[in-house]
Amino acid sequence: MPKIIHYRNKCIGCNSCVEHAPSFWNINKHDGKSDLHGAKNKNGVFVTEITMLDLEKNKKAAKDCPVRIIKVEE
Ligand code: SF4
Repeated sequence: MPKIIHYRNKCIGCNSCVEHAPSFWNINKHDGKSDLHGAKNKNGVFVTEITMLDLEKNKKAAKDCPVRIIKVEE
């Protein structure tokens, strides 16, 4: 299954990933960074598996992240 990896510490809270895939991302009200839904925290790096159906929107989110901290592994 494809995997999303989010290097959350470097997030600048621009909201672009939320716009591309709102069912996966939201801006955390407390620190203004984005949260990846259902992701497991591995030392500050958040990882979750996704289905092929959700691949394209998250690839767009990764491509448009201005600080390039979203990786999608297929
Ligand atoms: S697109 Fe990147 S910088 Fe912007 S909120 Fe999402 S993860 Fe953070």
